[in-house]
Amino acid sequence: MEKYILIIGACGQIGTELTWALRSKYGNDRVIASDIREGSESLMESGPFEILDATDYNALEEVIAYYEISEVYLMAAMLSATAEKFPMRAWNLNMGSLFNVLNLGKEKKIDKIFWPSSIAVFGPNTPKETTPQNTIMEPSTVYGISKQSGERWCEYYFNKFGVDVRSIRYPGLISWKTMPGGGTTDYAVDIYHKALSEGTYTCFLKEDTKLPMMFMDDAIRATIQIMEADTEAIKVRSAYNLSAMSFTPIQVAKSIQNHIPDFKILYEPDFRQAIADSWPSSIDDSDAQNDWNWKAEFDLEKTTKKMLKHLKP
Ligand code: NAD
Repeated sequence: MEKYILIIGACGQIGTELTWALRSKYGNDRVIASDIREGSESLMESGPFEILDATDYNALEEVIAYYEISEVYLMAAMLSATAEKFPMRAWNLNMGSLFNVLNLGKEKKIDKIFWPSSIAVFGPNTPKETTPQNTIMEPSTVYGISKQSGERWCEYYFNKFGVDVRSIRYPGLISWKTMPGGGTTDYAVDIYHKALSEGTYTCFLKEDTKLPMMFMDDAIRATIQIMEADTEAIKVRSAYNLSAMSFTPIQVAKSIQNHIPDFKILYEPDFRQAIADSWPSSIDDSDAQNDWNWKAEFDLEKTTKKMLKHLKP
């Protein structure tokens, strides 16, 4: 039987590109996009779309039955910077939507779930460099606490009820097709837009804040790869560390200056600095490499070239 896929939160930074990638792989009408709001014209026109609130179990159940969905990608969430402003809303959305999807798995209404975790599961007491898969976590942000709890519940639902849920800890994601949605690594997208439109950028993080990052093409490839891996290959049922590159704002500015020599960067750190300071600088993803053959393709130079090429007016 051919599968039907539901993407929840399909209009966001990752959901939009994931929808396009899955549609080109499985066919437009096999991939149902859904979100609480409408997305870009090109997304809306590329296949079926449903307005759907991820916290509404009955509405989810209805859409899943109607389209005979077997796989769900849950991309709806409140991200790190916004979650610090609305802690209870973030907790209710991030946990409520996950429980809904896990319970649909438990009730055997869907066969397979993708739910993204984040490097935000780590905290100030975590080893900062080459952070291992298993280590001290103790996240200090609302978002990180919700992601770490989510990981525990995913593993629990797999062990207790056999729910096939798969997850990766995305680093900060850099994309040119869609804008980021309120995270602490958003600067690494904004900087390319401003370099081209204004020739200058004021960064909300300090120049030497080193964070793990990834180009969107790699993130989408990893997402589809882990979902297609054999069940026995997935040995981590909380979430896999995933890594591509690490850089600081000054390093990304220099890589832009190789193409736009007059580009200038200024620094005005705000509340997001404390969030960034609590996260790792680099990630050890050897479990993902060994278990399902993960390998990143984009480094900073390749990312900068792609971003500038595609964002050029
Ligand atoms: P985003 O904010 O760009 O998109 C989230 C989407 O969810 C939005 O389109 C929003 O309208 C939708 N949404 C919000 N509330 C909803 C609800 N109640 N029902 C249905 N849809 C709702 O986020 P993103 O960057 O695409 O992130 C997707 C997932 O990946 C999230 O779980 C996020 O935590 C995780 N993640 C993202 C990054 C990153 O750098 N972008 C890094 C690590 C983890």
